[in-house]
Amino acid sequence: MKIQKLPAEFEAARPVLQTIEAAGFEAYFVGGSVRDTILGLPIHDVDIASSAYPAEIKALFERTVDTGIEHGTVMVLDHGNGYEVTTFRTESGYQDYRRPDKVTFIRSLTEDLKRRDFTINALAMKEDGKVIDLFDGVTDLKNHLIRAVGDANVRFNEDALRMMRAVRFASKLNFSIDPDTMRAITKHSYLLEKIAVERIYTEFVKMMMGYQPQLGLRDMLNTNMVDYVPVLNNYLPAIESIIALPNFKLANDNQVWGLLSSGFALHSNQISSFLKQWKAANQTITAVQKITKAVLAFQNDNLDAMTLFQIGQPLLMDAIQVAQALEIPVDSERVLSQYEQLPIKNGHELAINGGVLIKAGILKPGPDLGRILKQLQAVVINGELPNDQPTLLQHAKVLLQA
Ligand code: ATP
Ligand code: MG
Repeated sequence: MKIQKLPAEFEAARPVLQTIEAAGFEAYFVGGSVRDTILGLPIHDVDIASSAYPAEIKALFERTVDTGIEHGTVMVLDHGNGYEVTTFRTESGYQDYRRPDKVTFIRSLTEDLKRRDFTINALAMKEDGKVIDLFDGVTDLKNHLIRAVGDANVRFNEDALRMMRAVRFASKLNFSIDPDTMRAITKHSYLLEKIAVERIYTEFVKMMMGYQPQLGLRDMLNTNMVDYVPVLNNYLPAIESIIALPNFKLANDNQVWGLLSSGFALHSNQISSFLKQWKAANQTITAVQKITKAVLAFQNDNLDAMTLFQIGQPLLMDAIQVAQALEIPVDSERVLSQYEQLPIKNGHELAINGGVLIKAGILKPGPDLGRILKQLQAVVINGELPNDQPTLLQHAKVLLQA
């Protein structure tokens, strides 16, 4: 197979490959960008693999950065673009079913392609568009199949994360997992317990953000993977309900966890424990708590000004997306105009602050100050008083006497 018209990203990178080849080495485009080009999908990063060792690459280009030199990756800077050039390598010493602790640089493309996870990810392309396809990846692309390179049982034993990657690509591309590969996943799903949660998190979120998240969830249920990732198997009926929804598209981490938390009907503290088990960042936990609160307010049709203020943007948009995915009726125009009409959108917009209250001799620094400011903020947000300084100073005195 030869790609006649290369996407602009590849065209821009061709001189880098040509420079490497002119020095007597091999160089190819590899991985996701080749797969996505054949599928006609947009590409993001262009990865290059080469027979040249890192030091040899560095000698060929004026500007390089050692982005991952111990794994054989050097970034070549060319006309304002950065290209990761990785030396062909094999991997060995997979311990505890995790990624290898030893990589060996080699000169053979074949050996490099053999270590890759799925046939559709093991394609290489020469700078002229000629595709090297050692494992029938192009046929699998045509048949919409995710199939392990080599013996699937061996490959998932080497690195159990590949099972999550299989469902991730199934969802991203709307592909099926090949029956042999599927059987191997079912047999080895328990090995996911050996994998760092952070790595499962990344693949899981990408899966949920894919084109067919429900297919990914179905695959996780069918293979029992759901039993070996945090928490999910406590909510199997809710997961079935999510799978039964019409197709939806999620745009970020917050939406993914917001959808699950709302779908599982979790309270604030349950969200916190759910997401801590997934090792989510604290910022994510807070965001998801807010989204879930908003979704509940949409559902109960009791969204008030204070809730809108606390949620804020862009989380309000995330909450609308999540509600729509869950088929919860939400009048998004009304909600957004309600938000736009809030007298203040964050605490700094309040016409008064601690300094003003102290200077006016109304309050001294201390716990009362914070309490009164919170109350002033609330009356402004609720539209009980205008956001102007003299009015709020006056009201502060009233509140203190109360
Ligand atoms: P995306 O478009 O989502 O970035 P990708 O195919 O580029 O998809 P990456 O995770 O960026 O996926 O990995 C780049 C390539 O490295 C893959 O296409 C695959 O060939 C190889 N690869 C990545 N992770 C593994 C793994 N755990 N085992 C084997 N090969 C892998
Ligand atoms: Mg990639």
